[in-house]
Amino acid sequence: MTSPREEREKRIRRALPPDGMTRLVKIEPGAAKEAGKVFKELFGDTPALLAADLNTFEAAGEEVLRSLAEAGCRREDPFIYQERDLHAETSRVEVLRKRLEEIDAVVLCVGSGTLNDLAKLASHQVGRPYMTVATAASVDGFTAYGASITDRGFKQTFYCPAPLALLADLEVIAAAPEGMNPSGYADLLAKIPAGADWILADALGAEAIHPKAWELVQGRLREWLADPEGVAGGKIEALGNLMEGLVFSGLAMQAARSSRAASGAEHLFSHLWDNQGHTYRGKAPSHGFKVGIGTLASSASYEKLLAMDPKTLETDPALLARRWPDRAELEARVRAAFPSPPALTEQVLEQSLGKYLTPEGLSSRLERFREAWPALAERLPGRLLPAAEIQDRLAAARAPSAPEEIGISRKRLMESYAPARMIRSRYTILDILAETGWWEECVETLFRPGGFFARDAAEKDEPE
Ligand SMILES: [Zn+2]
Repeated sequence: MTSPREEREKRIRRALPPDGMTRLVKIEPGAAKEAGKVFKELFGDTPALLAADLNTFEAAGEEVLRSLAEAGCRREDPFIYQERDLHAETSRVEVLRKRLEEIDAVVLCVGSGTLNDLAKLASHQVGRPYMTVATAASVDGFTAYGASITDRGFKQTFYCPAPLALLADLEVIAAAPEGMNPSGYADLLAKIPAGADWILADALGAEAIHPKAWELVQGRLREWLADPEGVAGGKIEALGNLMEGLVFSGLAMQAARSSRAASGAEHLFSHLWDNQGHTYRGKAPSHGFKVGIGTLASSASYEKLLAMDPKTLETDPALLARRWPDRAELEARVRAAFPSPPALTEQVLEQSLGKYLTPEGLSSRLERFREAWPALAERLPGRLLPAAEIQDRLAAARAPSAPEEIGISRKRLMESYAPARMIRSRYTILDILAETGWWEECVETLFRPGGFFARDAAEKDEPE
């Protein structure tokens, strides 16, 4: 009999990429104590530059420094960001890069998603690997290929290698600041509708499923998500499962060199609100919290979609052209939804035009959809969760479970579906709803009396 811990180790070994980008992952209580030993194995006599912020240094910094000393590692003075509310911005990458340019050290990052993204990009810019000690199970980006960084006012993904090693100390993670592990739970719950989006995209010829990346995320997703209360309560086992899910999602993104396995329409809502500079009570809600509300939005629309019948869909291109925008009209809509900054407008235009279909293209897409529907209608319900259950799980994990809790009114949520579709070329439920012309039935009705997001159901939560 193997212990659950050995089982996890075995799963991790199988999941690590053959190209060796991430060579070691440990998810267990006390993992931070091994930082020095792991650093020595991977980087030998190269000095370590511990990078942290004030919060994450408090969480595990001293312990990691001690382990470096014990392992006989050379080390530079720690690099500690002084902001209490640190953001992943290009200016913050630059200060770390400048420090790295002065010395010949490798970053040992101690932190959550933000710190890891800063360390990842700065290390890449000086052409060095790095490793991370995770202090919260807050996002799936730790082991992803790429860093999510705000540049000139909008969030972008910069492609850069994942850490060579990741140590997730579950005792440190259990003590993470309020909201961080719930954020990670919401980011993992997002893989439910994201998986449905990929099935849809695969069936309609928009983007094929990458079998390894799929299996890494979807294989054990239900088990990882099984204990939202445990995540909220800091239970080691629940956090271990959550962290495993987040790490495997990152490894899937490494394997496919794409975020598709971990991100569908629900993430588009979050990216949209990022690009709109959305804040609530003076702060940007966490990535996971925004994604959680996106997950609710996407799941509610999936319920509506599954009740539709494509048999009667019009597929004559000449008739479709009457309701389908031409390129100029699409461009006008994008410019109206994203008037500034110009770099953002251009980026969204490129993404939207990237998935534009002519009326003929739309006609073939809809024919394909009709053919694929019996199989989809059988497969999708088993992959999805009802929106009400998504909501219950978010609440159980102590993540926001209604849009108002992140400062998004019902009206704004409804108005977010269309621009969310525009910002990425990624094919999702939002595309099939636009293509079928089922927008009213599957989006707008959610906000009418009796709908999932009806105001009457929300009246007590509505902000003044
Ligand atoms: Zn995410």
